[in-house]
Amino acid sequence: DGCDPRYLDDALERRLMPRLAEMLDRGGAYELGRSQMPSFTNTNNMSIVTGAPPVVHGLPGNHYLASDGAEVQLSDPSFLRAPSIHKALQDQGGRVLLVTAKDKLRRLLAHGDVPATSAEKAHEHPLSAYGVEDVVALVGRPNPGPYQWDMSHYALEIGLAVSRQAGPFDLLYVSTTDFVQHAEGPDGDMADRYYRRFDELFGEYLDLGYVVGLVADHGMNAKHHPDGSPRVIYLEEVLDAAGISGYHVILPITDPYVVHHGALGSFAWVHVPERDVSRAAEAIASLPAIEEVFTRDEAAVIYSHPRDRIGDLSVASDAQTALGKSPTKHDLSVLAGPLRSHGGRHEQIVPIIVSHPLSPEYAARHRAGVENRDIHDLVLNGVC
Ligand code: ZN
Ligand code: ZN
Repeated sequence: DGCDPRYLDDALERRLMPRLAEMLDRGGAYELGRSQMPSFTNTNNMSIVTGAPPVVHGLPGNHYLASDGAEVQLSDPSFLRAPSIHKALQDQGGRVLLVTAKDKLRRLLAHGDVPATSAEKAHEHPLSAYGVEDVVALVGRPNPGPYQWDMSHYALEIGLAVSRQAGPFDLLYVSTTDFVQHAEGPDGDMADRYYRRFDELFGEYLDLGYVVGLVADHGMNAKHHPDGSPRVIYLEEVLDAAGISGYHVILPITDPYVVHHGALGSFAWVHVPERDVSRAAEAIASLPAIEEVFTRDEAAVIYSHPRDRIGDLSVASDAQTALGKSPTKHDLSVLAGPLRSHGGRHEQIVPIIVSHPLSPEYAARHRAGVENRDIHDLVLNGVC
């Protein structure tokens, strides 16, 4: 989660990830590829586990405006419109397991009764299907909370512990969290600790004999001024100044973990009365830090989004700028440090890594540029 390629490149250069380096020396494949827009967590995790774009699985954000006018979290499995690869494999008799860091993702990924637990709520979600009634006891240490540096590692430790006890699995998906990446760039002490430990755990998966795919849901960029204050365009102010009323700005990054990003990312939806759509588009597009403004019909094609769950306008800002509603609607005091976030095109670049050599056909495809949602195809079908 949030593993911008710069973290790995920096860690490899400073030799913080010896197992990854060794794997690449032995023929593992590392290329850059694209994540789905908007570069948010739920959208991309669902694309990774379904192998499909948001128009197919139904989640173009973490959050949306329902037809009754209420803002709703897209975290309930009833919103999903496609089954996961894990569900399909399980239906064919495969042994599959899903582990998430944040519990909000567990319910979405587990859709269709795929065995799943989370680091955050490991104490509440046993894996009875595999005879593990106490996940925390099996891992051997208490599970950390969402604002601790090693909650992602705990998710990886669950995957290892359950594999040793009840595995191996035909397919195992571990989804991490981006608390560390929101807090620090590649040069931070906590980021160094994170990637060193990540590398050790990655090595343990290789030692268990797994073919491992490493992919990110999105990258991460600093979005603050030199003095540390967030660099934000407040869209309600822009619409007010243009004399537009009756609008509703939606920030689809919104989730319960506000300490990470204060609900500020580089992507927003604007709902406006039909007569004001072009005027609103013009007012927003005239700002230098705005890179993309698409109507609903355009966004449905360009981003492969479901038309019924997006705004009249889809707005994306540049690498250094976040989008907000209005200053009073964001409590920036909750931020753990200067704002680092994602959601736009500049966080769409992600590492796409496979631990074993790919067949010539898949290697060529991988080099030509794949998407994060192709990772299961690469790992399941592409290794020679
Ligand atoms: Zn994420
Ligand atoms: Zn995030």
